[in-house]
Amino acid sequence: MPTIKADLELCQGYANCVMEAPKYFDINDEGVVVVLKEKFGEEDRARVETAVRSCPVTALQIEE
Ligand code: SF4
Repeated sequence: MPTIKADLELCQGYANCVMEAPKYFDINDEGVVVVLKEKFGEEDRARVETAVRSCPVTALQIEE
């Protein structure tokens, strides 16, 4: 199952990913992304890929 990886050092808290896929991403009190669910199924792939692509600092990746 594909896995979401977040680079917390790169994340600037823009929250684009949260807007695209709130089931998978949130922002903590420090303004850093929290991955709520690391694994996703094919039914959510398009949504997760859009969220990953929406990150302006490329802090998100999908590991197949
Ligand atoms: S879009 Fe990128 S920079 Fe913004 S919160 Fe998500 S991971 Fe962090």
